[in-house]
Amino acid sequence: MTTHGDPAARIAELSALIRHHDERYYGQDAPEVSDAEYDELVRELRALEAANPDLASPDSPTQRVGAATFGATFAPVTHRVPMTSLDNAMDTAELTAWGERVAKGLGAAAAAPAVASVAALQLDLLGEAPSPDSPSDPAAPAATPAVPTARYVCELKIDGLAMSLRYEQGRFVQAATRGDGRVGEDVTANVATIAGLPHRLPPGAPDVVEVRGEVYMSLASFEALNERAAQAGQPRFANPRNAAAGSLRQKDPSVTASRELSFWCYQLGEVVGGPAFETHHETLEFLATLGFPVNPESRVVDDLDGVYAFCRHWQEHRHDLAYEIDGAVAKVDDLAQRERLGFTSRAPRWAIAYKFPPEERTTLLRDIQVSVGRTGRATPFAVLEPVFVGGSTVGMATLHNQDQVRAKDVRPGDTVVVRKAGDVIPEVVGPVLGLRPEGLPAWEFPVQCPCAIKSVLVRAEGEADTRCVEPGCPFQRDQRIIYFASRGAMDIEGLGERTVFQLSDAGLVADPADIYFLTVDQLLQLDGFARMSAEKLVASIAASRSRPLPRLLTALGAKGLGPSASESISAAFGTLDAVMAASEADLATTDGVGPTIAASIVRWFAQPANREMIEKLRAAGVEFGNVVVSRLPQVLAGKAVVVTGSLDGFSRDEAEAAIKGRGGKSPGSVSAKTYAVVIGADPGASKVTKAADLGIPVLDEAGFVALLETGELPPTTETIETP
Ligand code: NAD
Repeated sequence: MTTHGDPAARIAELSALIRHHDERYYGQDAPEVSDAEYDELVRELRALEAANPDLASPDSPTQRVGAATFGATFAPVTHRVPMTSLDNAMDTAELTAWGERVAKGLGAAAAAPAVASVAALQLDLLGEAPSPDSPSDPAAPAATPAVPTARYVCELKIDGLAMSLRYEQGRFVQAATRGDGRVGEDVTANVATIAGLPHRLPPGAPDVVEVRGEVYMSLASFEALNERAAQAGQPRFANPRNAAAGSLRQKDPSVTASRELSFWCYQLGEVVGGPAFETHHETLEFLATLGFPVNPESRVVDDLDGVYAFCRHWQEHRHDLAYEIDGAVAKVDDLAQRERLGFTSRAPRWAIAYKFPPEERTTLLRDIQVSVGRTGRATPFAVLEPVFVGGSTVGMATLHNQDQVRAKDVRPGDTVVVRKAGDVIPEVVGPVLGLRPEGLPAWEFPVQCPCAIKSVLVRAEGEADTRCVEPGCPFQRDQRIIYFASRGAMDIEGLGERTVFQLSDAGLVADPADIYFLTVDQLLQLDGFARMSAEKLVASIAASRSRPLPRLLTALGAKGLGPSASESISAAFGTLDAVMAASEADLATTDGVGPTIAASIVRWFAQPANREMIEKLRAAGVEFGNVVVSRLPQVLAGKAVVVTGSLDGFSRDEAEAAIKGRGGKSPGSVSAKTYAVVIGADPGASKVTKAADLGIPVLDEAGFVALLETGELPPTTETIETP
């Protein structure tokens, strides 16, 4: 029976569920659902309570902070100033609603006798003179008081654990977790191992200073920890936050020390004998002068637009940081205003956490299957109950190889945590062991290739990969054709995975060369092809006959022969026939081609089936290169020149060829190693900004022409300033 129609029953159900998840998360460090799913339950409960105030109970989970987690290991510590949580906003509408609540809270105060000073202080903060009809003007109409606006401090929401540090007479005396907000756990010995935290404060520090902040694990330390866990055959930590929580709850501080935790402070707690402050940002500056690590990304902004801009910026750039954040926090800067706004039972009214869209979700692992690539490599992948995470719906995720599946111990039928962070491909983090059905068998790597001929899969001694060793395997064959036609190779529009499968099922292609003999009539036999689409595909296949040699070499797919090695080899040998005739030693001395790739190329051309395919390509009229090996002076040898925007005298390819023909490189992005950036019309903004940030010399087209001649920067070359 569903309880959704009955608010009282649903409230009871949600409260019980949330309590259960709190116990798993805070008590056992073993959550069963992702934070996003947990947050959804809390939000549903909060909405129901708001709609039915008579059903809201004071001990509802929405009224509490965290959970009490007292075991025998750590002594309880009562916080002198309670440690609260934060209310959160999931989108700009909720952020705006918070801004309105703040304005209303301060506006309500404006009607009180103390108004004039509040408004004056506010205007003073903004550096403005009171206007004639400001609330401080007794002549202002009482019915429409100007609402004082707040200035905000924007901070990163660090994904770690809240911690309170206490210093007395300049000495570090105690560290306590948040616990239920009133009573936390004494973890002093463990926190004392965190590098970068002062053990003594400078002379003149207040008698008592309590500092609040977040203990976190950097991504580098997290990866190193999981690497060590994998080597020791121990389970991996799901994310840096869980790893930091586990590391703090160690009986032995030397274990905590080995985990390399870090700390950012963001709040002053109790202070005795210290200076008086008027704003939050002053307190942060003060903490920095005492030697505490204060996050450098915090910003003071004048209004909510500034808050939106900060949130937008960090939502986009969250993965540029060396640690994880799960949102941004906006706090009213003025401490007098904060006092006026006060707290709810669990959070300050003067702050809000803007949460970024979730990058982790739990879902069902339906199956683990194996895909076979063009080189025969068999890769296990997860077939998932589709789940929306990190901005897209994920139904599949790679599991890399046999050892990874073992290390993660994921089994078909498990509930698993799926992560998709930024542009990174989706990943199965691990199983939720608490939800594993009893007797669920471990997954075994198949011994047969899943293709129709069921060739054997072999894992060679000392290798991480399992391979299908039968070159006639239809999966390998199809993948070779798909790769041949792909964008980085022969770039044949319309010849994607689906069409290749259709063609190969119909027996029309068995190797990449066969595509050049396809006819419109043959294509018309296939599902989904009409005359126009068939003619279009035949035309784009025909157009690919004249692709430059580096693309053809890449398309052949010899192991290790990627685009950059193909470029060097083409520049050195000029034609495919010259490459085929080259010895291993000749190839190995080419720039960027070592003995391994050289051996792989020679092996590839030695195979009769490949020779036969080359001859078919020749017969089909595919161009094998006619490049006259560059005799240009190699004035740009070893130099990287980035071109952005359009030039009058060069197409993009011509500019690239001019650089490469002189021994240089023309990468697609600017880095500290870039020699110069050539800027044409409508340049890419990110390249220009990067060049300015790194102080890389920039050239116009005339400067570029001079550079091509001499390899030297013209004397008038400039760098641009960061705005
Ligand atoms: P919260 O994490 O949403 O926000 C409050 C916390 O943010 C503070 O206590 C502090 O630790 C932290 N913080 C980071 N940067 C900060 C900054 N600059 N200024 C102030 N605070 C900052 O709230 P919460 O009460 O800690 O909620 C617990 C979190 O744990 C939520 O994300 C929730 O999803 C998760 N949780 C998950 C489960 C589960 O089963 N998956 C269960 C319980 C809680």
